[in-house]
Amino acid sequence: MTFPGFLLPESQIKLANRLLYQIGNEFEECIMSTVQSPKKVVIVGAGYAGLKAAARLARKTRRQGVDITVINGSDHFVERIRLHQLAANQTLKHIAIRELLRGTGIHFVQGWVTEIAPDHHHLTVQTANGTQQMAYDKLVYAAGSFIDSSMIPGGKEYALSLSTEATTLALRDKLPHIAARGGRVLVIGGGLTGIESSTELAEAYPSLRVTLVTRGTFGADLSQKGAAYIREAFASQGIELIENTTITRITAQAAAYEGGEIPFDLCLWAGAFGVPALAREAGFAVNRQGQVIVDEYLRSISHPDVIAVGDSAGLEQALDIPIRMACATGIFMGSYAGDHLAAWANGAAPKPYQFGYVIRCISLGRHDGLVQRVKPDDTPVEQVITGRAGAQIKELICKQTLWQITMERWLPGGSGKSANASPTEPVRARA
Ligand SMILES: Cc1cc2nc3c(=O)[nH]c(=O)nc-3n(C[C@H](O)[C@H](O)[C@H](O)COP(=O)(O)OP(=O)(O)OC[C@H]3O[C@@H](n4cnc5c(N)ncnc54)[C@H](O)[C@@H]3O)c2cc1C
Repeated sequence: MTFPGFLLPESQIKLANRLLYQIGNEFEECIMSTVQSPKKVVIVGAGYAGLKAAARLARKTRRQGVDITVINGSDHFVERIRLHQLAANQTLKHIAIRELLRGTGIHFVQGWVTEIAPDHHHLTVQTANGTQQMAYDKLVYAAGSFIDSSMIPGGKEYALSLSTEATTLALRDKLPHIAARGGRVLVIGGGLTGIESSTELAEAYPSLRVTLVTRGTFGADLSQKGAAYIREAFASQGIELIENTTITRITAQAAAYEGGEIPFDLCLWAGAFGVPALAREAGFAVNRQGQVIVDEYLRSISHPDVIAVGDSAGLEQALDIPIRMACATGIFMGSYAGDHLAAWANGAAPKPYQFGYVIRCISLGRHDGLVQRVKPDDTPVEQVITGRAGAQIKELICKQTLWQITMERWLPGGSGKSANASPTEPVRARA
């Protein structure tokens, strides 16, 4: 007697075998992950770099049961790249971190990490409910940066900055009164933050008299076309530009330089970024700025179980290119950290981090912008996109920083077996 239903062609038998084998493997992985205690990854800081690292790692280890915890001071994500918009009284979206992480299995703790003990693999978090100790197998250090107005005498007392949401709100609240009487805002610093702030404020408050003062030649790190375009934009918005002038002290109503002073009603310090002292205090090897010095795998050179990403990581030593503190830099480091740790969770070897810049995007208010093409080492070339198109590209890039994080939830996961930290997306920065 024959049973026609069981007479499968050989190709289908092979396929069935393969499927059964795969199901068996996945079942085994599932069982193993519940039997073994899960590997624990803690991420300090839920900025661009930390959140990207968390989301990528969660996606790539969906079946491995890696226990991921993100710790952040505030319960919502601060879009730092839009703080000049907030200063100009625009409303930014409220983005709850728990909402961003919904469905990923990542734990979120709102609190401040006050101490890291890397030799013992644990840290201390101060939360609203008290102090909590937390152990980790791997730590991702993504504590970001701030704008350090104490770098200049009088800065802390008399200058405001876009350092945090709170400092930006303090600035925002003062501007309408100063604008109403045609007052003066002095922006100190000719970098991207200074340029974006001056133009945003001048556009929002046409009655304000905005001056930007910079130590060197304005736009020295842009192409000639790029620098010329911004000068024109400043002129058309009535922004006064003072170059090659080093401010040495800030007082209540003026900024002093050798040979004179510039009066103001409000002073906005847009000098260099500083980083939290936490890493130095924890005993990590840090550079002069206090960033964690990392190797080509973004591991702390003093404590290799710690991966540093974003503004808090110092990777000049590991890469041959100058690195700027930017979300364009940090978000790619976050992706890499996720890949690297997924590889570790599966016993695979990570590949070194690779990175190169592509463009720099600068908003000049809401309707104008500059997209500056750069070489991988961030040096500018004479190719720019300007005007409304420049503004639209910049806006798109701001939006896609968040999409990049949320999209991780929807992308297919991986068993992690081949997740050897070879970047699965272009490793070049886009903004
Ligand atoms: C006005 C302005 C405009 C900018 N525009 C651009 C731009 O156009 N393009 C660009 O590429 N870059 C831009 N930047 C720079 C960019 O915002 C930063 O480089 C970027 O935010 C760095 O990302 P990060 O993840 O390293 O750190 P952050 O975004 O700073 O996030 C770090 C997080 O860690 C938290 N944290 C810190 N310490 C602790 C602790 N001890 N415990 C718990 N949590 C902690 C912080 O509260 C924060 O939430 C701009 C910055 C400013 C201020």
